Amino acid sequence: MAELAIEDLRFAYKRAGEEMFNGLSWQFEPGSVTALTGPSGRGKSTLLFLIGLLLTPTSGRVLLDGEAVSRAPDAQRAAIRAGRVGFMFQDAQLDPTRRVIDAVMEPGLYAGHAHAGLVDRARSLLDQFGLTDRADHRPGQVSGGQAQRVALCRALVNSPEILLADEPTGNLDRGNAELVLDALSATARSGNTVVIATHDPFVLERVDERVAL
Ligand code: ADP
Ligand code: MG
Repeated sequence: MAELAIEDLRFAYKRAGEEMFNGLSWQFEPGSVTALTGPSGRGKSTLLFLIGLLLTPTSGRVLLDGEAVSRAPDAQRAAIRAGRVGFMFQDAQLDPTRRVIDAVMEPGLYAGHAHAGLVDRARSLLDQFGLTDRADHRPGQVSGGQAQRVALCRALVNSPEILLADEPTGNLDRGNAELVLDALSATARSGNTVVIATHDPFVLERVDERVAL
């Protein structure tokens, strides 16, 4: 289980730019889904990027198992991202030239998992999310809702201890939103830490914790 926290966090994209988060501290509980919420432009996505070690805080830190990993060397941050973090990006932009199943498998290849096992894992995730018949299609041939589910499969392929999802229900109708939320909850219930950025009231009603930005 991952012990994930942020401490005294501040971030600005530019040196003289507007600073966000005002020294925010929070401990994310394994087993829970936590929503980062607040109006558009408040920094929900930015905070996910900081937690996912894709950005470095201007001050304060991201702690993983008590260690300030936000300032760890690039190689260590990359290893944490590959091995322990799954990221479901908002614009589920998939490489148009490659098949859906390849997109789902890719984070597993980065993490060094064997190809054969990954094929099985990717197919079973695609089955679970009703995408069995899309596995061999190119992303140009899937709908927005399907692309979002592909992005979820991709984020889950390494069974990450920390799952970060940016507006995971953004393009989805109610039925698909429920499917995705149930998957996020199930991921949390098996001891993982799930953090999502959302301003969707339907989602906010169903999460365990809320951090208002
Ligand atoms: P949210 O996800 O809550 O809508 P964001 O994290 O996307 O908010 O953005 C927070 C603020 O940072 C906004 O003012 C946005 O314009 C700005 N911002 C986002 N990305 C960048 C970037 N790459 N460079 C400069 N400013 C950015
Ligand atoms: Mg955002």
